[in-house]
Amino acid sequence: MIIDDFYLKSQIRSVPDWPKPGVLFRDVTTIFENPKAWRGVMDSFIHRYMELDFSHIGAMDARGFLIGSNLSYVLNKPLVLFRKKGKLPAKTLSVEYDLEYGTASLEVHADSLHKGDRVLLVDDLIATGGTLLAAVQLIEKLGAKTIEAAAIMDLPDLGGSRRLQNAGVPTFSLCAFE
Ligand code: AMP
Repeated sequence: MIIDDFYLKSQIRSVPDWPKPGVLFRDVTTIFENPKAWRGVMDSFIHRYMELDFSHIGAMDARGFLIGSNLSYVLNKPLVLFRKKGKLPAKTLSVEYDLEYGTASLEVHADSLHKGDRVLLVDDLIATGGTLLAAVQLIEKLGAKTIEAAAIMDLPDLGGSRRLQNAGVPTFSLCAFE
């Protein structure tokens, strides 16, 4: 069953002007601290992805790791971590990308995906889509394909889900803040 959108939104804390003035930060730590909401989020993802044809879960640093880890365990799929610069110890591929607030690099282990792999990407939130698009590029560089990008919430006004869809990546979110 998919979690009720109104209930889910009511459980996400909104913090104005963090981490800088003008950003309304949508804080999912209040979901993680609330077993009813957290279970509802994970049950919704499991319900959607238990029948989908994919080979790997790609989890985005850092809140995406929590979703990806649960999904990997329940759906018995390998988990690939997409990390901020300098965190992965072995040989990596790297891309630069723009954030809603600043720029950054995203990295993945070079041997973590191969030609023909089908990756479901997960994160807490789609804002500009820059982070997920960086992961999509890394997946392509490794010869694999992103079959969908999933998040707890979408901020459609920031255009990320549209950018992903224009790049041929379907998106799925459990709620949206206009
Ligand atoms: P983006 O690459 O712009 O789609 O940003 C997505 C990433 O940045 C996600 O990993 C989010 O956790 C974080 N992020 C960006 N904007 C916000 C926001 N307004 N509230 C909470 N997290 C955000």
